[in-house]
Amino acid sequence: MVSEVVKAVSPSATINLLNKEMELKNKGEKIISFSLGEPDFSTPKKILDFAIQKMYEGKTHYTPSAGIMDLRQKIAQKYKNENNVIAEAKNVLVTPTKFGIYLSYLTILNPTEEILIPDPGWVSYVEIAHLVGARPVFYKLNENNGFQIDEEDIKNKINSKTRAILINSPSNPTGSILNNESLKIIRDLAIDKNLYIISDEIYEKIVYEGKNISIASFDDLFERTITVNGFSKSHAMTGLRIGYVIASEQIIKFMDNVQQHTLTCAASFSQYAALKALDDEEDSRIMVEEFRKRRELIYSGLSKIPYIYVKKPQATFYIFPRFSYKGLNSMQMANLLLEKLKISTVPGISFGPSGENHLRFSFSTSQENIIEGIKRLEMLNDL
Ligand code: PMP
Repeated sequence: MVSEVVKAVSPSATINLLNKEMELKNKGEKIISFSLGEPDFSTPKKILDFAIQKMYEGKTHYTPSAGIMDLRQKIAQKYKNENNVIAEAKNVLVTPTKFGIYLSYLTILNPTEEILIPDPGWVSYVEIAHLVGARPVFYKLNENNGFQIDEEDIKNKINSKTRAILINSPSNPTGSILNNESLKIIRDLAIDKNLYIISDEIYEKIVYEGKNISIASFDDLFERTITVNGFSKSHAMTGLRIGYVIASEQIIKFMDNVQQHTLTCAASFSQYAALKALDDEEDSRIMVEEFRKRRELIYSGLSKIPYIYVKKPQATFYIFPRFSYKGLNSMQMANLLLEKLKISTVPGISFGPSGENHLRFSFSTSQENIIEGIKRLEMLNDL
């Protein structure tokens, strides 16, 4: 028999939809895919060249479990220079980002304790809680206010079992950035109620307006904040599985113990790729400029579709419009778009109850595909 813990972890709610998309593609249908969760760019050549060179130099063995020292130092330096977070190498653990989130939960949550997660928010925040036997509790983001923190709602969700608040800014799926007011609400609650904060900053580089602020830079928050970040989105290297966690020395030590007995260390060559990526602002910038053009294109296109109500995202490569069409829910709507218009999207309900009546469109696809997708959506009227 399978353990109760593993049984509590659900498969992806969108798996049927993805299977259907595959099936249609295999039949030769030209699907316009707006469902991609990663940059459609190649990993920059200079990053690959460096990692390959390191492999030929013999860097294909175990590294220190917390990561190679040069990389830990460089990540700490980046957070000091760019994010105003006073981190040192001893505050950094190199690990794939998603595993870093798992380690964060595992380190601060006892079974049955609660973690507050955003609604709508990224799908894995719920299931990682199940994986450590903790309870995920949604707090609402206020759509009317640009998906900011709703103070009343989040306060009402805190009880004696609450141990942590997770924030994700810039956000998958909404594309919004938490403003100073929202961050202050989180800070005050964390201090008042003695909670940890997990701050997932993986989309920090893909920003079009404003700047993301790292909550660990606020006075008194460094010790109670676990920041997670990585290179998947910023440098189009999802398959290299490389990211990091920044936290107090004590937390990093405990996480390192777990890493030693699970992952051992992040892949050696991926760590070298990350080292190079930290020097490579240029490729990241070029990618973001292209995303910016696509954002304009998809925003203006979707704005013209009568059943879709859209706001321009400040960041990420996602746009998360609300829709109202013949009373369909988001799963039905995503199915309809796939079957009738051959467009794939992600139904909003996968991101939490507040995601209902929304669709997530990823604009990590070519301008031609965006134009063609919008043309198809214009046919909604005739369905
Ligand atoms: N956080 C968020 C919000 C994400 O969207 C993702 C990737 N989809 C991750 C973390 C995990 O990133 P990685 O694949 O690099 O582990």
